[in-house]
Amino acid sequence: MGEIMIGNTMMDAPLTLLALLERAEELFGDQEIISWIPDPNDRSDRPRPLVHRYRYADACRRSRQLSSALANLGVQRGDRVATLATNHYRHLEAYLAVPCMGAVLHTVNVRLPPEQLIYIVRHGGAEVLLIDHLFARLIPPLLANCPALRAVLVMGGPQGLAASLGDKVFDYEAQVASGDPYFVYPQLAESEASGLCYTSGTTGMPKGVVYSHRSTILHALSAALPDTGNISRHDTLLPVVPMFHVNAWGVPHSGLLAGSRLVFASIYNDGASLARLMESERVTGGTGVPTIWMGLADALEEAIGAGHPYQLQLKSLLIGGSAVPEALIQRLDRLGIQAIQGWGMTETSPIGSISRLPPGIDLGSELGGHLRAKQGPPVPLIQARVVDASGADVPRDGVTMGRLLVRGPWVAERYYLSDSTDQVVQIGGQNWLDTGDIASIDGYGFIDIRDRAKDMIKSGGEWISSVFIENLLMDHPAVAEAAVIATPDHKWGERPAAVLVLRSGAAASEEDFRQHLMDRLDRFPKWWLPDRYIFVPELPHSSVGKVLKRALRERYGLTPPG
Ligand code: ADP
Repeated sequence: MGEIMIGNTMMDAPLTLLALLERAEELFGDQEIISWIPDPNDRSDRPRPLVHRYRYADACRRSRQLSSALANLGVQRGDRVATLATNHYRHLEAYLAVPCMGAVLHTVNVRLPPEQLIYIVRHGGAEVLLIDHLFARLIPPLLANCPALRAVLVMGGPQGLAASLGDKVFDYEAQVASGDPYFVYPQLAESEASGLCYTSGTTGMPKGVVYSHRSTILHALSAALPDTGNISRHDTLLPVVPMFHVNAWGVPHSGLLAGSRLVFASIYNDGASLARLMESERVTGGTGVPTIWMGLADALEEAIGAGHPYQLQLKSLLIGGSAVPEALIQRLDRLGIQAIQGWGMTETSPIGSISRLPPGIDLGSELGGHLRAKQGPPVPLIQARVVDASGADVPRDGVTMGRLLVRGPWVAERYYLSDSTDQVVQIGGQNWLDTGDIASIDGYGFIDIRDRAKDMIKSGGEWISSVFIENLLMDHPAVAEAAVIATPDHKWGERPAAVLVLRSGAAASEEDFRQHLMDRLDRFPKWWLPDRYIFVPELPHSSVGKVLKRALRERYGLTPPG
């Protein structure tokens, strides 16, 4: 038995992004893509939006033209093409054109300080850069500091802008117009690199993660499943999460694969603009970090208060990037919008888990509420485990904390141009990625992220979940934002302090917050109560909107002595 190995009889069709482009061309040519883009002739700090509309057929044709133009500029298989751009149709064209021609799309975070941004472009080694006209001031320093950069294509902006910036700078539209709309793509292997993205550096220097065609396609498929992103041809999707941040969580890929209507907001990410855009384009689903949706909730509530509610078709919002406060989930529920939490990281492409409820548990029930505030079970094809210091699995009791490890076809095991294997743990002959997150896992398989290892508070040898206390504080009506951080303590090693930003016009005292937490002592041990409350006008945020706890500790002199 088992001596004769039979070969399978399936075709060896590679999983590449070309399949996605060809499907879009063949089946969804009429589907719409809508972008709000800044008026190029409005020179104010906040140019008014222009609405750009076209169809999948246009996007695909222009992508082939872009590939052809890039090939004429000398871009070859494996070369990097960087983008410094907000969310819009031209960025989407780069999403298709660059990987389909066998080059690697390096999406760079436009919100980083210039030195970090230049470091990332240079480290990535891009030959060509596609850049929004809004960031044209960065072109001279980038050309001066990135020796591999041979050409820059400026997207949008007033006429003559590119020509005024030197002989390596070209107008994107002119380049596309010069390209061949019938450009023939090469046959690629699914293991070839398709994308490059750097971690946003919340806890250290940015590191590059290289995605493959295979990882991108498998991620797009899993992300579209009903219990993941539930993405269909009948949807109109608005990815507010930037296209430079882990491929906008893969929404462009899943959306194109499904044939969804796509809407892009460029720089118009404030609550009122998003509400207007969602109303006018009948958006059914959106993706973004909690702060974005807090802004949307403010705008929607304000409009209701003023007696002119927005008429939305919005069914659900996928929220992730940092812990989603239960208070936000409930607020969105009251507005008739289902909030779904997801967890992931640059290294996981990014979707690792999604918090959809198992059958038999109501959204509105107490258990449902608790589970939705967790990060959920791993999505199909991702495995997750939570381990203690010896590498043994912690009990699935929803209480015991340990390090969260994941593995799967879209999980990175190394960084670009790095030999470090620090992030990999070997268990039973398999590689697992140590996420750097501290979590518990419960009987439903729901992961609950309690902290990042580097933000963790260890008091008397025991962990305190800062995220948990932050969430309880965010429940208080006077709180706009809360961060719980470690402060050095002679006796306990570390003790928690709460740093609070109050809503404008709200007043509450330290005593109010102490009482607010004391009233909820059935949910956590008393020694987790913060020792100090610090009131500040604002919290420091990373370029993608995460609270920088390290900076907070430094700013308020809470780092350990020495
Ligand atoms: P960076 O590591 O530089 O912040 P990433 O965008 O890759 O950049 O961040 C991934 C991290 O964000 C995760 O490791 C986790 O700590 C945090 N995170 C993402 N989603 C959630 C979530 N739903 N709840 C709590 N933390 C989250």
